[in-house]
Amino acid sequence: TPQFSHMLAAFEASLQRDPEATALLYFDGKLSQQGLDQAAQRLAVALHSRGFGAGDRLGLYTQNNPAFVIGLLAAWKLGAIGVCINPMNKARELRHVLQDSGATALLCLDQLYLDVARDVIANDTPQVATVITCAARDGQSLDDARVFALGERLSAPDGVLDLQHLIDTPVDTTLPRPTLGADDVALLTYTSGTTGNPKGAMNTHGNLAFNAQTYRDWLGLTPQDRILGLAPLFHITGSVAHLSLAMLVGCPLILAHRFQPESMLDTLRMHRPTFTIGAITAFISLMNTPQARKDDFASFRAIYSGGAPISPATNAEFEKFSGQYIHNAFGMTETASPTHLVPLGKRAPVDPHSGALSIGVPVFNTTVWILNDEGQAATLGEVGEIVDRGPQVMRGYWNMPDATTAAIPDGRLRTGDVGFMDGDGWFYLVDRKKDMINAGGYKVWPREVEDVLYSHPAVREAAVIGVPDDYRGETVKAVVSLKPGADVSPEDLMAHCKAQMAAYKYPRIVSIVDELPKTVTGKILRRSLR
Ligand code: ATP
Ligand code: MG
Repeated sequence: TPQFSHMLAAFEASLQRDPEATALLYFDGKLSQQGLDQAAQRLAVALHSRGFGAGDRLGLYTQNNPAFVIGLLAAWKLGAIGVCINPMNKARELRHVLQDSGATALLCLDQLYLDVARDVIANDTPQVATVITCAARDGQSLDDARVFALGERLSAPDGVLDLQHLIDTPVDTTLPRPTLGADDVALLTYTSGTTGNPKGAMNTHGNLAFNAQTYRDWLGLTPQDRILGLAPLFHITGSVAHLSLAMLVGCPLILAHRFQPESMLDTLRMHRPTFTIGAITAFISLMNTPQARKDDFASFRAIYSGGAPISPATNAEFEKFSGQYIHNAFGMTETASPTHLVPLGKRAPVDPHSGALSIGVPVFNTTVWILNDEGQAATLGEVGEIVDRGPQVMRGYWNMPDATTAAIPDGRLRTGDVGFMDGDGWFYLVDRKKDMINAGGYKVWPREVEDVLYSHPAVREAAVIGVPDDYRGETVKAVVSLKPGADVSPEDLMAHCKAQMAAYKYPRIVSIVDELPKTVTGKILRRSLR
């Protein structure tokens, strides 16, 4: 199999193989590989004519729309870097990303331009010289998906370019060929901000091409597959395991603006995807949606979930409901997604002591260490920090030399995650180093307590945190949301945990809420609960 050093070459190979093949499906619209190439080419020409080029940063501030893919491909055609911006960002956060990345061009949804970006650019980030806006569709279901297109109205007064207009206008300029290599930065992707402020990771073309190839080869994906974009494209899971992967394989990528369970179910019925990966909370949400039916999931031949722990109980429940087994994928923004995968068709073992579901085994060319508290390689089964080296590890954090040295002090990435390996080579995540609860000197790892909570039939989502306690320093608190119609008391849940774990671990406080706070990527935010 060819190994591509950069994503532009990977895309061009797919384009040449079959220019007519579908590249993007978006509600009832579609774009061929050739159509995608032409749209990106026209956008690239417009950017180039305004002095935007190699090494420059293009902000991508949209939901899961074709515009995101067109924009990123246009940046790559110029040897430029895409900056993935969370569309939930408000002015303060957008200002930070634009200033931090030094983006000089921004591709953004019409509505986000009007609501947020216009003022930020006018007042604080004048270096953003070019703004291109685009329309979007959104809705509760495919039937009522509305088109938001303010472009026409905007373009004249503000000097803002309209993406659709650019795409519809033929150009005869040829662009200089960028000199791209594996070490060139393809993306600035911000971490989820689960444990602190998001940091911009420099993901190179080599990182992306390698990880896309990993997915393709581990799952045996071909142009006949159809990838469902369940994760947001601005997150590394979306930009690698949806966008880069579909470009490399040359198969359709199905986009649906944003995660909305009803319209996602409609999308499943309409486009029959064969592969997806998303946060486990997305799968929980889908199976708890009243319209969901087993048959909605019948077209899949591979489902993966990454970014957050999967409880064995949730996994079993989803399989019972959908007939599909969710394979675990482990990775971080800093590794452009996976360092570990559960091989397709294999079931991850569950550690008998902690009840943790395995995160899989290391992927190709990847070396993983478990370093104990003394910084020594741990023995089999011993718990320590997970440390990685491989072609997927980022070049560093953008503009953060100290954080980069702390994360990659010796060519090996410190993940900040604690785990262990069993005698068969399966890895397990214990938890994040930062989330350990110290209850009177005992280490309590929230994930283990959460797994036990998930095994209660009434529990929909659970988060466990340490809260200050006069006697024990910290004590264990659980915050849970319940399944529709479930009726259970905090005392019942406490008793359920107490019966299954050592006395120092079970939650002393349980609070039941309607909804847990989450990142847009669907990760439960223990930090904001604390
Ligand atoms: P921040 O670094 O800003 O605090 P974050 O770490 O959540 O946010 P991401 O890069 O999106 O940002 O997530 C990577 C982290 O997600 C990993 O370090 C790990 O803690 C967790 N994670 C990823 N995959 C899994 C998995 N399969 N099981 C359990 N945890 C996972
Ligand atoms: Mg992190």
